[in-house]
Amino acid sequence: MNKHDYFMAACAAEEYRRSAWVISVFAVLREDPDKWKTDNYPYRIVQLPTGHWFVNPENREELLPIEGGVKGEPLFAPGEKVHLKAHAVSNLHKDAEVTYGNLLVNFAGVIYPFGDKVEYQLGEITARGMESIIIKRLKDTPMELTGPENQNKQRDPKFIYVDEYLKFCDAMFYLGGLATLFVPAGSKKAMTVDPDVIKLREKLIAENKDRLHDPAVIAKIDAELVAHDKAWIKGDEAEHFLLSGKAYNIVRKKLFLQMGAEMGLDETQNVDYIPQSLNEGWDISKFPAMNNALRAGSFNRGAQTMLGGESVKWLLRASSNMMVTKDDCGSKLGNLFVIDKHTENWVGFSMVSDAGLTKITDENVGEYLGKQVMLRSPMYCKLPKTDFCKVCVGDRLAANPTALSAAVAAYGSAFLALFMAAAHAKALLLAKLDYRTAII
Ligand SMILES: [Zn+2]
Repeated sequence: MNKHDYFMAACAAEEYRRSAWVISVFAVLREDPDKWKTDNYPYRIVQLPTGHWFVNPENREELLPIEGGVKGEPLFAPGEKVHLKAHAVSNLHKDAEVTYGNLLVNFAGVIYPFGDKVEYQLGEITARGMESIIIKRLKDTPMELTGPENQNKQRDPKFIYVDEYLKFCDAMFYLGGLATLFVPAGSKKAMTVDPDVIKLREKLIAENKDRLHDPAVIAKIDAELVAHDKAWIKGDEAEHFLLSGKAYNIVRKKLFLQMGAEMGLDETQNVDYIPQSLNEGWDISKFPAMNNALRAGSFNRGAQTMLGGESVKWLLRASSNMMVTKDDCGSKLGNLFVIDKHTENWVGFSMVSDAGLTKITDENVGEYLGKQVMLRSPMYCKLPKTDFCKVCVGDRLAANPTALSAAVAAYGSAFLALFMAAAHAKALLLAKLDYRTAII
């Protein structure tokens, strides 16, 4: 059997659910050549000096050869390209060029939980991206659908049921466990830096020598150095490990580029600029500034986080009687907003205009993109005391009529998250403010 047919046949038999199988497909094994005789699950790969073999699922005492592998190397590389014809897997509707890594994630994270209800995912797949597909179709699992004997009964392909979502969660956790196989965390480039970056830093310092007290100038230097570092790493195998902004803007920056602007415990905008990176050793003259940054980190983690936690409790108590009690209070007032590309934030709210009320839906939200509209808001709800109506609070909150206080308390959680994050050092970044949208 050629190796592609082998991969597809083993995945059709759900062998991708067995981590030992996945490891044997994408890595070189070192094991007793007779081990398979006592552990002969179907499609088990046996790497012998003669090449790659697999346990015949029809007769598990027998090994069959796999053609197309290279002796002493893994049978597949995660980035190895493969051309799939439409319908080669149940949820693929057009021809596509994919990789075996992508195919594995589709089998485990898409086909296993959802069958062909969710389309084949090309390119990078993230849990967050998948959840944005799921959330719009999610429905409680009706009682008559639970239990393995009813798995395929009366399921409407339009919806995704909670039991399928839970399978998806299990699958994503399982895939996370394979990270050490697929994500090379260490490489020479990941542990070093381009020596030219120091020359670039010295040049930028010389160009800005009179303005090094200004956080905006240091943020610009940071940005140029980080851009240089990212370009240098591009194409390296560790690129898939150094994914987050934090890996570059904070960790690699302080380690290899420059310590940069350190803020102390006071709440001013003054910064102490430290050009030397940790890799070059401590600049002892800057020792107080470095220590103050550490102290500010642990203080924020403790005392400042408390402020957020306290406000969550206060807001919960203050708002615990709020409820959604009526369909529409009939208010004609609202707040002005510009509908931006985060369309999911706007769906479920209602626009007020001379023509009356228009609800923003998934279907019509595109028509209002970039336009200014007046949206009904709880601020102007006409219901008495602590009651609100469904139109003023929008669909999302109206779905949980007694849970308004949880939404109110989320403001406290935002403070808490802000200070928690501050404990882990912050990147100094420049952002553009569009005063026209900020003032509304
Ligand atoms: Zn209202």
